[in-house]
Amino acid sequence: MLTRNPCIARLKSGYLFPEIARRRREFAAAHPDAKIISLGVGNTTEPVLPHINSGLVEGARRLGTAEGYSGYADEGFEELRRRISEVYYHGAFGVDEIFISDGAKCDIGRLQVLFGGSAKVAVQDPSYPVYVDGSVFAGAAGAGTDTGYQGITYLPCTADNGYFPNLARLPQNSLFYFCSPNNPTGATATRDQLEALVKAALRTGSIIVFDAAYSSYIRDSAIPTTIFAVDGADECAIEVNSFSKSAGFTGVRLGWTAVPKKLRFEGGESVLADWNRVCGTIFNGASNIAQRGGLAALDDEGRKELRALTDFYMENARLIRTAMQKHGVPCVGGDNSPYIWARFPGEDSWDVFSRILEKCHVVTTPGSGVGPAGRGCLRVSAFGHRADIEEGVRRLARLWDRG
Ligand SMILES: *Cc1c(COP(=O)(O)O)cnc(C)c1O
Repeated sequence: MLTRNPCIARLKSGYLFPEIARRRREFAAAHPDAKIISLGVGNTTEPVLPHINSGLVEGARRLGTAEGYSGYADEGFEELRRRISEVYYHGAFGVDEIFISDGAKCDIGRLQVLFGGSAKVAVQDPSYPVYVDGSVFAGAAGAGTDTGYQGITYLPCTADNGYFPNLARLPQNSLFYFCSPNNPTGATATRDQLEALVKAALRTGSIIVFDAAYSSYIRDSAIPTTIFAVDGADECAIEVNSFSKSAGFTGVRLGWTAVPKKLRFEGGESVLADWNRVCGTIFNGASNIAQRGGLAALDDEGRKELRALTDFYMENARLIRTAMQKHGVPCVGGDNSPYIWARFPGEDSWDVFSRILEKCHVVTTPGSGVGPAGRGCLRVSAFGHRADIEEGVRRLARLWDRG
C-alpha cells in the first residue's frame, strides 16, 4: 500500500473550524430548541450588491454568445489586472505583475509550492491557519509540539506588544506571512510599523507574504491599505488580496497576487518568473464569470457598493466592540477590520468558548486554536445578518451583566 504523506501526517490537530462545528453540533443535539447564533466564522452573509451582481450575470451571458465567449484566461483578464493596479496600487504595477486567482487562500497554497519545503517560515502568532498548516503540507515544518511546529518561527502578537511582533526575532532568510488588518486579532499595522516590517525583511533577506484580504475595511486614512505603500517593499514583498471579504465573493472565488518584478531570490533569479511557471502549471486561471464581477466591482458604481457592503459589516463590528467595551471586556479590532479579539486573562479559550455557547448559544472562535499566543482570547466575527448580530450582542451583554 502507498504510505501516507509524512508531511500531512505531521499535522497536529484537525483544522480549527471542523472542531468548532463538531462542538456546535453536539450542543445543538443536546439542546434542540436553542437558536444558535454564529459569530464564529469568517464567512460573508450579505447578498452581492446589484451592480456587481450584474457584472457576474453579464459574464455568464457572454459565455453563451459567439462574440463574448472566452476560454482559459491564465493570468486573468488584462483589463481586470490594469484596474486592480490602478485602484489598489496607484498604477504602480504592470499588468504582468498582477495575477488573478480564485482566491487569496488558494494563492497562499500555491506560494507554498513556489517556496517549497526548504523555506524557513515565520508567522505572526496567532495567525490565519493556512500559513502554518500549508507550510506543514509543503514540508517546511518539523514535529508539532504544544507551542507549535519545530522549524516555524512564531512571533507573538499580544496586548503586551500592541499586536505587532518583535521584529528583532525575525530569523535570516525567512518567508514571513504577515496579515493586516489581521485575522484573527483585528489589529491593523500603522505606517511606521509597516516601514519597520519592510526594513526588517530587507535586513534579514526575507520575503514578506502580505495578506491584505481585509484592506477594504480600513477606515483610518493614515493606515496603508497595502504593503507597497512602503518604500522598498517591491524588493521584499508579495501581496495577496481578494474580492471575498470586500465584495462578498467568498462563494464566487476571485482574488489576486501582486508579485513585483524587482523581487529576487538569493541567487538573483526572478520570483515573478517562477510564480508564472507555478501558476501556469497547477492553476488554469480564475472563472471568467467571476472576473466580469470583479470588473464591475472596480468601476465607480462597484466601488460604492464595496464601500456600502464593508460599511454594513463595520457597523456590526461597532455593535460588538461597543458592547464589550461597555462591559469591561478588553478587546482590540473592529475599527479597521471585521474581527474583534477579546481577552479573558487567565482563562482557557475553549472554556470561554464553551461557556458562551452554553449560556448564550453563541458560537465564537477560540484564540488558542489559531496559535499558541491566542490562549485566553476569543475572536468574534462581524460577518452576520444585522438581527443576528444584535441578538448575539444582547445575549453576551446579559451574560456579562450577571458577571
Ligand atoms: C478570508 C481570508 C482570505 C480570503 O481567502 P479567499 O480564498 O480569497 O476567499 C485570505 N486571508 C485571510 C486572512 C482571510 O481571512
